[in-house]
Amino acid sequence: MLKIAIVDKIHSDGIKLLEDNSKFQYEIIEDLSKKNLILKLPSFDGITLRRGKIDAEILEKCKNLKVISRHGVGYDNVDTKLLKKNNITLLVAATTSAVSPAEHIMFMVLNISKGIDLYDKAVRDGKFDFVMHMKNNNNFELANKKILIIGFGRIGRKLIKRCLGFEMKVNVYDPFVEQKIIESFGGIKVNDLNEGLKDSDIISLSVPLTEKTYNMINLEKIKIMKKNAVIINTSRGGVVNEKDLNEALNKDLIYGAGLDVFEKEPPDNDNPLLTNKRVVLSPHAATFTKEGLSKMSIQTVQNVIDYFENNLQQTMIVKL
Ligand code: NAD
Repeated sequence: MLKIAIVDKIHSDGIKLLEDNSKFQYEIIEDLSKKNLILKLPSFDGITLRRGKIDAEILEKCKNLKVISRHGVGYDNVDTKLLKKNNITLLVAATTSAVSPAEHIMFMVLNISKGIDLYDKAVRDGKFDFVMHMKNNNNFELANKKILIIGFGRIGRKLIKRCLGFEMKVNVYDPFVEQKIIESFGGIKVNDLNEGLKDSDIISLSVPLTEKTYNMINLEKIKIMKKNAVIINTSRGGVVNEKDLNEALNKDLIYGAGLDVFEKEPPDNDNPLLTNKRVVLSPHAATFTKEGLSKMSIQTVQNVIDYFENNLQQTMIVKL
């Protein structure tokens, strides 16, 4: 019987697939400390991985391990060099983790464009009429605004449809995607990031965290943006430099920001962004919908089953 470790609990819909399959036995591992992972994981043939870091030292001890199936699409919490060296296959939940994140980006944009938090508080505080006397109403329409989508993969392609539905103009910066593909979705390809930043009202990042994307938005880049610009980062912490973002918001270099991800998660209590009213925050929750979590858990587990049954869709495999 093949042993599967479910590293970090996932939605029960996915786990049911293993319950109903006599070829597999599974264990849910909730203690994600390195000490526990290094102790537990060596006996398993396959792993599903949500949170938790699987580094080189852990992987070297996993002599039976053949496959890691990420619950999601990012894989910056696995040592990919070691996976390649030890011939371990890496899978992602490729087709189920794009709708909820794209909707989350729209939620953040709308939250900022409509000043929702202020309105909600006003009504609850009995200040229903305050909006009539607001001197600086900075709320804005999305129609005809320009959004720059950085990274035109699965999420970027779901996002563009939603933006076009709001009658926005969409620029796309992704050096790895051809112009004709971007145009077929109704976007305009931007070849120079700086040109895109200069021209856009909203900048949304949907790129993986790599050496190239780490801090790709820093103070130097923010200074190129329009004063009314809004930055949304739902990709990975570190893609936007947090210190620079906080400074830029405080100095009115840009209008606002939405962050779902942080360089350190959870962020330290003294992270100044936590008290900055110009930023909308969520706790790495872009996929957290009933549908999103259910679909992702099913795909994550099905990928492991398909791997062992030689039935795997190529789109789920990460080329290492
Ligand atoms: P994807 O792999 O389908 O697309 C990523 C795109 O980024 C690709 O088209 C690639 O060409 C492009 N890219 C890579 N490097 C780039 C660069 N330097 N400049 C511009 N574009 C670049 O991934 P996806 O499914 O769209 O997800 C994107 C990222 O979002 C993931 O890697 C993950 O880290 C993150 N994510 C976060 C959440 C969340 O809960 N907040 C959920 C899902 C995904």
